[in-house]
Amino acid sequence: MKGGLIIISSPSGGGKGTLIREVLRTTPGITFSVSYTTRAMREGEQNGREYIFVSRAEFVELINKGEFLEYAEVHGNLYGTSRTQIQQVMDSGTDVLLEIDVQGARILNSAAPDAISIFILPPSFPVLQTRLTLRATESSGDLQLRLKNSFEEVRAYDLFKYVIVNDDLNHAVEDLRTIIKAERLLRDRQIDEIQSILDGFDASYRRFAAS
Ligand code: ADP
Ligand code: 5GP
Repeated sequence: MKGGLIIISSPSGGGKGTLIREVLRTTPGITFSVSYTTRAMREGEQNGREYIFVSRAEFVELINKGEFLEYAEVHGNLYGTSRTQIQQVMDSGTDVLLEIDVQGARILNSAAPDAISIFILPPSFPVLQTRLTLRATESSGDLQLRLKNSFEEVRAYDLFKYVIVNDDLNHAVEDLRTIIKAERLLRDRQIDEIQSILDGFDASYRRFAAS
């Protein structure tokens, strides 16, 4: 059975990074898709862990090679999902989690309609502003740009199958785990296991009927 795609978006500071870290730490069978980006590395980030950091020229070369499943310009930088990476992980039967912006989610709505898409909505603009300011990872210009872009980004909630309001962190983590668990219980995602159980029933039936 092939793994599935889990798409998570939110405005900057919405809490997707925090929720994803927690769920990856506690849920087996999910691999994080490490995107390419042209943005500068933040303190504490590692090349190849949060992102693969490349120059604009390298990014354009990757576009020309067809390496991106989707890519977009977000808050003035380019970000793209590696097609090769996704293919390899899904072929191994593992789910892949994509943390992408709403433009990327829109592209994948047509390119990967079976994906599980989840939007993380902050409870209000003032809360978002406080969280992003306290995170203190952006210059004041970048912070203003991210806040300004959030007004349009929250309106894109209707591109997604699920919405989690990230008010209380523990509740939001639990919501995300619940969605992933429920999606994994869908009949069609369990076909191989169901078939092997039914084969066992068939074998038992033959012995049962002959006795
Ligand atoms: P994103 O990855 O969407 O940009 P982050 O996960 O970095 O957002 O969250 C932005 C900031 O808000 C971080 O400093 C994080 O610790 C904090 N945060 C996230 N969710 C909550 C929450 N439910 N309650 C309080 N603080 C939160
Ligand atoms: P940040 O700079 O805060 O890490 O990310 C900025 C925005 O870019 C976030 O909304 C994040 O989800 C988005 N992003 C990260 N990787 C990708 C990607 O591969 N594709 C797209 N479309 N957006 C991405």
